[in-house]
Order: sequence, then C-alpha cells, then structure tokens
Amino acid sequence: MTKGTRVPSGRVRGDMKAVLDHVGIAVKDLGAALAFYRDALGLEIEPAEDVPSQRVRAHLVPAGGAHLELLEATAPDSPIAAFLNARGPGLHHITLSVEDLDAAIAQLKARGARLIDERPRPGALGSRIAFIHPSAAHGVLVELKQSSADSRQSTVVGQTSVAPAPERPAPASRLSAPVVRYPLGDLELISVCDGFFRLDGGAMFGVVPKPLWAPKAPPDERNRITLAMRPLIVRGARTMIIDAGVGDKENAKFGEIFGLDRARHLDHTLAEAGLSVEDIDVVLATHLHFDHAGGFTVRGADGRVRPRFPRAQYVVRRGEWEDATHANERNRASYLADNYVPLAEAGVLQLVDDDQTIMPGVRVRRTGGHTMHHQIVMIESGGKAAAYVADLIPTTAHLPNPWIMAYDLYPLETLAAKHALVQEAVEREMLIFFDHDPSVAAGYIRHEDGKPHLIPH
Ligand SMILES: [Zn+2]
Ligand SMILES: [Zn+2]
Repeated sequence: MTKGTRVPSGRVRGDMKAVLDHVGIAVKDLGAALAFYRDALGLEIEPAEDVPSQRVRAHLVPAGGAHLELLEATAPDSPIAAFLNARGPGLHHITLSVEDLDAAIAQLKARGARLIDERPRPGALGSRIAFIHPSAAHGVLVELKQSSADSRQSTVVGQTSVAPAPERPAPASRLSAPVVRYPLGDLELISVCDGFFRLDGGAMFGVVPKPLWAPKAPPDERNRITLAMRPLIVRGARTMIIDAGVGDKENAKFGEIFGLDRARHLDHTLAEAGLSVEDIDVVLATHLHFDHAGGFTVRGADGRVRPRFPRAQYVVRRGEWEDATHANERNRASYLADNYVPLAEAGVLQLVDDDQTIMPGVRVRRTGGHTMHHQIVMIESGGKAAAYVADLIPTTAHLPNPWIMAYDLYPLETLAAKHALVQEAVEREMLIFFDHDPSVAAGYIRHEDGKPHLIPH
C-alpha cells in the first residue's frame, strides 16, 4: 500500500464502499460445528434456512453487523457437497455488500481483477450479485451483493445462486410448545420440548385407515404427520429429566427425512424453565429410540460424543439396553449407538432390572409392546398421580385401544397395557403426559359413551 491510500477498515479503497455482509463456511458435521460456534463461542444460531434449489441448508450466526453462514449440503449433488469433497470443510465464500454493483464491477475490470461474473445476476430477495474469481482475491471466493432497497437482510448461498431463492420461510415453528409447570404434591413437573419431527402417518396409526386418522393428524405431501418431542422434568429430592428428545448429532439428510424442526429445542426450553444441563441429576429413559435418547449425548468440539448432562446418572432398563446394543433388522433404524453407548463408556449408566422407585415419588413400570422393555413413568405425591406414557400412547389421537403404531414390536402387549393404563388414569384422575402430541402436553382422561376422551390440562 502506497502513501496516502489508507482506507477505513471494512471499506474497499475507492468508491466501492464494500461492507462485510457474511462469511459462508462449508460444514461437514453440523453437530460438531454447532458445538464450536454455538456452544464453545456462545453465539446464537438462527433457525435454519433451506435453499432447495441448491440442496443447501444455511444456519445464520449473527456476529456483530455481519454474520457467519454455516452451509450444510442436503443432497450428494449439492455444490456444498462437491466443495467438501474437493477441499474439506472450511471457508467457502465471503460476501461484501456494495451500494452500486455495476460501478464495482467496472472498477474491478479496470484494475484487471478476474471475475466469474462480468455482469450482475439475480440473487435472493431482489438482490443482484456477482462473484470475483478466487485467484483475484488471494484464494477466497468473493461475492459482491447489491441489496434491493427493501431487502437488506437477504442472503445468497454460494456460487450457484442463479435463481432467486424463495422468501425465507417463516420459522417452521408456527408450532410451539410452551414450557408448562404442573405442581404435583411436593413435586414440580415441567413439560419441556426438543422441537418437532415427522413420521409416516400410516406407520403411526397401524391398522387404522387413513380416512380415520388424517382428520386428527393432517399429513404433509409425503404422508408424514408432525410429532413433538416433550421430555418431562421432575423436581423433587433430585432433578430428573425423563427422555431428552432427538438432540443435534444427526446430519442434514436425517433432518430432511424426519422433517426435524428444532428451531426451539431442549436447551431453549430448559433455559425458559430456569434450568441448564448442569442442574440435571438423573436422566431416565423410557426406551432408547432416537427420538427419546438422541438428546442424551452431544458431540464435542473435538468430534467425540459425550454425555450431555455432565452431572447426571442415566437410568436405563437392562432389557432395553440389551436390545438397543444388539439391534436386529426390524428395529435397527431406531437405535443409534452414539445416543447411549458413550454413557457406558463414561461410567454414568445405571441399569435397572425391575419396576422400581427411581427417586421418591417416581417409579418405572414396564409396558412392553412398543419395544420388549419399553417402560412408562408413574409419578405420585401428596395423594396425586401423574404418568409419562412415552410411546405407549404417543399422542392424544392414540387413546382409542386399536390406534396402535405399526412401529410397535408387540402390538397386543401395547393393547393390554394401554387398556389397563387408561382405566387406571380415569379411576385415579391421573395427569397424563404425552411425549409426541404436537399440541397437547398433558391432560386427564374421562370415559364418555364408553370411549376415552382427553380433557387437556
Ligand atoms: Zn419409540
Ligand atoms: Zn417415540
């Protein structure tokens, strides 16, 4: 730089007035990336934005005036996948905002800078963009962007932004699960949430024909219905969490298949409840399927999976542990070893054999049915009773006896256990917690015309 050419930082010499808009980072393992950018650096991650035309999912991370953009491939033919294969994870591009893109291109041409785009092309939300060749920018792919007057927040993903991206979708969570506190004698029960996912509606309702279930659980275009993941906190002699949702270790393909919506997840709802992972003394598993046990572990910045609740003992039924660690072709897709094997390795696993009290007021009861050793949690204090019924009755739509998931390994066991529990719930006026209901966390069951009905709490 010669004398008299100093320019304020963030500004390009001359009249281009380029301002850093964002830094795009290609990410291979989103869980590990979040462990660093969110957990270690303490930055906030905005809800993910899918750009289907480019098979890319962008996670925006505000950082001062600009932001980081973690870019995840959602298909093997995504440009980000190609980039990752060729170069590995890391800096993908930087985007500079300019006021006059035509003038900026002219200025660069006049100085002999090699361009990918000799003239502007359309970007997202009415913006115009042009890419500078990395050879001109010392190895960095640089995108210049001129926002349309009313779209200063627009972002464009990567080099292949040829078509205007769709409007950023409203965060998929128009669904929301409030944190609700339920006093129960000397205990406090707090319903939290790890977000939502989708499973095939036919599989969720087994032998029940679609015309009967579809009005209760409207399917999407892929026949999937929306389900919540609602772990339950029990505060008493100790602080317990029952199940922990799906967690964030899985990749984009998994998220896509299961329509994961974790814009607001367990960390958020724990914080709303005034708790953090350090406050949990006991983690109790109803069973080890990924939508219940995924949140038991996290992937650290070093890529290793460790227990998510650093002080907790994890209580798992021995039979369920045996089945999960010896999965067969029928149940293998539901059991992901990273969700629970690291617990044994860390020495925080406690296996229980029978129905028993886990802490004062909290007992486990084997139901079988869904899995051979699936258990529910019976909670009692001050003459009041509640039950966390997990996958015995996943949603309020599953209250009628024959409405049983096709996922269940032993449906006749489910039938018997559900019939007995519903009877008991009616007689004892038990508060029933539903893990997967998209809108109801808990309620009481009454019989009307011989059929079970739910009275939401
Ligand atoms: Zn299950
Ligand atoms: Zn489940």
